[in-house]
Amino acid sequence: MRIGHGFDVHGFTEGANLILGGVSIPYVKAFKAHSDGDVLLHALCDALLGAVALGDIGQHFPDSDRKWQDCSSLVLLREVYAKVQALGFVLENCDLTVIAQAPKLLEYKQAMQRNIAQELNAELNRVNIKATTTEGLGYLGRSEGIACHAVVLLSSSHAALSK
Ligand code: MG
Repeated sequence: MRIGHGFDVHGFTEGANLILGGVSIPYVKAFKAHSDGDVLLHALCDALLGAVALGDIGQHFPDSDRKWQDCSSLVLLREVYAKVQALGFVLENCDLTVIAQAPKLLEYKQAMQRNIAQELNAELNRVNIKATTTEGLGYLGRSEGIACHAVVLLSSSHAALSK
């Protein structure tokens, strides 16, 4: 078994929608980012990389590389999970917490869960998404951006690779 944690924040810029968990959500702003700014998937990628000691997302997909500019983070997640699987690990479950004062995410959570489960070849009941606010406190409470925490558990069926 391996456990990993990821954390990411993106601030807002002018725009009309946010991409979270690969889902486009209408909003009065957009994420300011090199890629699509999908904090949920970035935190998940970091948790996966962390679990197999492969560093962090910035190392694998540098801002300086134009290849990743405006790239869908679902593509990054796919690449990261391929690295995880190449080491002999598969997802047991992941638990993701989005911290956003706005917009309300309830009606989009299922679509995000489906996207992630599909990329990770996992059943829906192995992917949990929670949304919370900071009760108006701090930079997230002032709606300056959105943050996400991710925790993943991986298991290996290849004992030789799990040492
Ligand atoms: Mg990010």
